[in-house]
Amino acid sequence: RFEGVTMAPPDPILGVTEAFKADTNELKLNLGVGAYRTEELQPYVLRVVKKAETLLLEKGENKEYLPIEGLAAFNKATAELLLGADNPVIKEGRVATVQGLSGTGSLRLAAAFIQRYFPEAKALISSPSWGNHKNIFNDARVPWSEYRYYDPRTIGLDFEGMIADVKAAPDGSFVLLHGCAHNPTGIDPTPEQWEKIADVIQEKNHIPFFDVAYQGFASGNLDTDASSVRSFVSRGLEVLVAQSYSKNLGLYAERIGAINVVCASPDAATRVKSQLKRLARPMYSNPPIHGARIVANVVGNPELFNEWKAEMELMAGRIKNVRQALYDSLSEKDKSGKDWSFILRQIGMFSFTGLNKVQSENMTNKWHVYMTKDGRISLAGLSLAKCEYLTDAIIDSFHN
Ligand code: PMP
Repeated sequence: RFEGVTMAPPDPILGVTEAFKADTNELKLNLGVGAYRTEELQPYVLRVVKKAETLLLEKGENKEYLPIEGLAAFNKATAELLLGADNPVIKEGRVATVQGLSGTGSLRLAAAFIQRYFPEAKALISSPSWGNHKNIFNDARVPWSEYRYYDPRTIGLDFEGMIADVKAAPDGSFVLLHGCAHNPTGIDPTPEQWEKIADVIQEKNHIPFFDVAYQGFASGNLDTDASSVRSFVSRGLEVLVAQSYSKNLGLYAERIGAINVVCASPDAATRVKSQLKRLARPMYSNPPIHGARIVANVVGNPELFNEWKAEMELMAGRIKNVRQALYDSLSEKDKSGKDWSFILRQIGMFSFTGLNKVQSENMTNKWHVYMTKDGRISLAGLSLAKCEYLTDAIIDSFHN
């Protein structure tokens, strides 16, 4: 009976890691997946995470099921971290927060909610976006289309195009926005542009749906990276926000995140939460506890919280350093006169190099540099020591 099952294509991002592992060349470099590495290119477990885990072990907590909505202390901490603890919407009980299976699972739960309660609504995704956004909406059967975002001519934001497309979408669409450090481009709207985006969304009765996968990891500051979301919320808009602790706490495999729905009334928030729980129950019943406890302990303990912020600054700082070093090295070695300053204007973990598919393939096939075919490289997988090698690979791929 399974003879008729066809082969699925490898995932465009996770498939890169599989190919990297199979390569035996010692010069190989994995700039595919967005996971933080140390300067020695080793995975990193944050010291605060280890400390929180030690505390948890000492407490000897049990492994009973969590409620469907997750760990209460986590849900409180995560909403406060996102919106600010004294945000009126929290005080007024207008936020429905449900622990999710990291960013992906939280997005997926929200998509299921949209499909069930807004079956006529469309989602709008930036072009380009993190590849999984399309998969998530497809599998949840939410129709979607793209809005212009990246302008290859300027290697910057196509702001006019974005505004025009958001305006042209049917009223009441769900507009997916990257809270900070847009993936894959690394290009974010300015605060003034965010205000204009919010104006149009408000005019059109759209519902903003933020994906916040890099809070604190983009700029090194938790509040700065949440400012887009907070400015939308302060307008009194209803907003959906998916959160992830994969990057900022390095909890990739713990699958810890949340979906927050900011509603117009506490009553609506209670009802929305009840429906999110109803959707979660048949999908996975209840979420895992370990990551939730780590986050709740780190955020809830002033000492650990401050240590976390320092460690996050360190991680963000390392990425900024290699970003600068790559720019310096490209500017020095490339004799073609090409302006590489776009690299410095991008933020977060990635750089969108402008390398096309064939050139990206040259990076991998000739230089053993593994990356996605859209020209995105993860600077988190780069060390200062490898900048020169990468520069040679990029120059060769661009100009040959
Ligand atoms: N959204 C974006 C934009 C991302 O880059 C990522 C991670 N690559 C995620 C969501 C979700 O990651 P996770 O499911 O590990 O939280």
